[in-house]
Amino acid sequence: MTIDNKRDSPQRGKPNPAESCDSLCDSCESRGTCSDPRAEISDRMGRIKHKILIGSGKGGVGKSTVTVNLAMVLKRSGYRVGILDADITGPNIPKLLGIEDLRLTAGPGGVEPVNADGIKVVSMALVLSSRDSAVVWRGPMKMAALKQFISDVNWGDLDFLLVDLPPGTSDEPISLAQLIPDLTGAVIVTTPQEVAILDSKKAVNMFQLMNVPILGIIENMSTLICPHCGQMIDVFKSGGGEREAREMGLHFLGAIPIDPEIGKLGDQGLAFVSRDTPAWKSFEKVVSALREEIAK
Ligand code: ADP
Repeated sequence: MTIDNKRDSPQRGKPNPAESCDSLCDSCESRGTCSDPRAEISDRMGRIKHKILIGSGKGGVGKSTVTVNLAMVLKRSGYRVGILDADITGPNIPKLLGIEDLRLTAGPGGVEPVNADGIKVVSMALVLSSRDSAVVWRGPMKMAALKQFISDVNWGDLDFLLVDLPPGTSDEPISLAQLIPDLTGAVIVTTPQEVAILDSKKAVNMFQLMNVPILGIIENMSTLICPHCGQMIDVFKSGGGEREAREMGLHFLGAIPIDPEIGKLGDQGLAFVSRDTPAWKSFEKVVSALREEIAK
């Protein structure tokens, strides 16, 4: 992998090493000597049974939190799981998992993901020189970095690779939908409010335009679990995600409650929810609905 972890922004006049295939082939010094990235991608991705994009229309709906907890439920069910944090300019997965001081390393089989409680994690935040470094990259450079994340990383044999996308309908989802062969499909995370639903419909439409199967919709921050009495409080008028799924003819995978502990622990890098909580049970239900959908 040639991502330069000392340099967080492009150098003028010099092709970024991450862009060394396709679009920059003509000017690349390695032209004719580098390996075909498509063959590498196909080899690496061929060893992963289910490759799932996790998207949302809006930021802040809890997509990354949902991704890490779905990964943990899958891992605890005995599956081999990886998370690709595909948000190149705003990578948050390492922060949520408390691994942001670790770095990807080079091994004989390629770039080695960081291990977070048995889950293989790759993120731009595990490449940057410091926590506050900004990645100021245009679309083609982001695409080149993503290409390396799937062609150069030693993911090994996995049952599930969950790809945490940045919100919206821009470069990353489009690139990944084109780059990853045999995608299992996409899951859309939304909150119940109308603004979030409206944007998530755009994400659904984007995936449909790209012929990526939609596995279903998850409503996060659905109802609040009162920290005092444990009762459910309907803060955001829950049910928007389920209604959207019905209207769009999609599968509703389930609702995750607002749990103040999730927000607090996520800030401390402990985003995996405890097993005895209602939120964990909700994540388990979502995983079982997801597995049913995949098995269809
Ligand atoms: P996104 O990936 O959509 O931008 P994050 O996963 O980063 O969203 O979550 C945004 C914030 O909301 C984080 O502080 C996270 O801890 C919090 N959060 C996410 N889901 C829940 C939930 N179900 N209950 C309480 N807080 C949540």
